[in-house]
Amino acid sequence: MSRKLFIAGNWKMNTDLSQARSLAEAIAESIGGVTEADLAVCPPAVYIRAVTDVLAGSTIGVGAQNMFYEDNGAYTGEISAEMLKDVGCRYVIVGHSERRHVIGETDETINRKIVKGLSAGLDVIFCVGELLEERQGDQTMEVVKRQVKIGLEGISKDCDDGATLADRLTIAYEPVWAIGTGLTATPRQAQEVHGMIRRLICEAYDESLGESVRIQYGGSVKASNAAELFKQPDVDGALVGGASLMADEFAAIVRAGIE
Ligand code: PEP
Repeated sequence: MSRKLFIAGNWKMNTDLSQARSLAEAIAESIGGVTEADLAVCPPAVYIRAVTDVLAGSTIGVGAQNMFYEDNGAYTGEISAEMLKDVGCRYVIVGHSERRHVIGETDETINRKIVKGLSAGLDVIFCVGELLEERQGDQTMEVVKRQVKIGLEGISKDCDDGATLADRLTIAYEPVWAIGTGLTATPRQAQEVHGMIRRLICEAYDESLGESVRIQYGGSVKASNAAELFKQPDVDGALVGGASLMADEFAAIVRAGIE
């Protein structure tokens, strides 16, 4: 089954307003017409609107790095799915390792966010991945299985708007020890976990959904290692942090996937 690559850039808490605009402009200039892969950037929340304006008319979508699971009300500092849609977001990242391990989000919180994001009509990038000590303790598969199972609990294969879960959900396998460290999982390590996640989705839903859901790899992806990762049968794209802050490098990763 061939799945269209999905390459997304996570800018984290980087750039100021003018840098966000100029980075978006530079990315649009070099890859803003690409149709062979789905592309997105996820700026800091306060710059989303400015970036959606810059990218209007390009093929690059905009996503948020986080959202809250309630619609509105007394949740100081939080941002709802509807608010994200209102400023032009199509995507939202949920369960990034920095949200899990720095901010303290749990599998259950992440599940509530995925449920809300999907029902609000956002395309959700759901991140999972093991810590270094979990990999060293041979617990990678067990940890990632738990994260996937709890994250998707109660979520049906058909979304409210008639789309299937595979149209709207991307799973990002991001080993925590590889994020921002310069260490990358080998293509084989990535494939092992991606294959396991796909089997899990086939079992939890059905073969057709499992075969079509996209599974991105994230963790120090660069132009120099992207092509080998993208050759793996179950690696359907990348969630890119540091390298997405450099327009040329991000564009080179995209080209590694489509050429
Ligand atoms: C990320 O932020 O999801 C990420 C993978 O970061 P980096 O590419 O810098 O490791």
